[in-house]
Amino acid sequence: MLSYRHIFHAGNFADVLKHLVLIHIIDYLKKKDKPFCYIDTHAGPGKYPLDNEFALKNREFDSGISQLWHRDDLPELVARYVDLVKQFNDTGDLKSYPGSPLIAQHLLRKQDHLFLCELHSTEIALLTKRFKGIRGVDVVHADGLKHGLSLLPPSQHRGLVMIDPSYEIKNDYRLVVDTLLAMTKRFATGTYALWYPVIERDRNHRLEKAIIATGIKNVQLFELGVRADSSGHGMTASGMIVINPPWTLAAQMEQTLPYLAKVLTDKADGIYRIKVLAGE
Ligand code: SAM
Repeated sequence: MLSYRHIFHAGNFADVLKHLVLIHIIDYLKKKDKPFCYIDTHAGPGKYPLDNEFALKNREFDSGISQLWHRDDLPELVARYVDLVKQFNDTGDLKSYPGSPLIAQHLLRKQDHLFLCELHSTEIALLTKRFKGIRGVDVVHADGLKHGLSLLPPSQHRGLVMIDPSYEIKNDYRLVVDTLLAMTKRFATGTYALWYPVIERDRNHRLEKAIIATGIKNVQLFELGVRADSSGHGMTASGMIVINPPWTLAAQMEQTLPYLAKVLTDKADGIYRIKVLAGE
């Protein structure tokens, strides 16, 4: 049974990295008029009220989006991300945080299509309500890895698969690698974005090795840490592994990650990684 609820973590430093990478990939796909599809395998509820008691429990947004809200020195991609979140907060105060489905739906055009998968009974109910009657959006109560695979290759022949598991089950690390391999076999030219936490560094080494061992080409990794690694004492960093990234993403992250490593931590600069896991 699933117990994870993302509202406890909404807008934290991990969401900042995840969602600005998402925005950049979608902006890039939109450079062509041709339609594309967005498949969110772990969609969550769609939107997070930050005045909710669960969000306020640990106020994780204070480590992320809040730190950026009033700054006037934001690099291009961070400014784009903060501006987008501000569009969901019309009073100017940070009250609400959009999840990946809402960010994507906000950016997609009428010719594009969203598939949003979610398994948790509470989250799927919230997600279904949020997107009810909206054209171009399919909300699916299913295992996102299995259902996402069944949707490939998409009829549009262009698309992004966003994989953002909660890693409640340790086997999820193995499952995401096997699924990425199966997905890229069916749809080799698609873009895939996998989020991961750093809790025990050894597990991340194994994940990276497993991805390299698949032989999937054109894979880049972007990671942001707010504390030094500490085995098993909570999430110290998180990252995105992107297959077939826009060619512009690495340059954007070269600007973005040093900045975030500085403003989202109170320690020395430089807790970030940019790595090519596999060349083209
Ligand atoms: N992507 C969301 C966002 O940016 O707002 C957050 C997603 S949260 C990290 C992970 C979600 O995956 C949770 O809502 C959880 O219920 C859901 N989940 C866990 N296992 C799943 C599975 N096998 N298929 C679909 N959803 C799953």
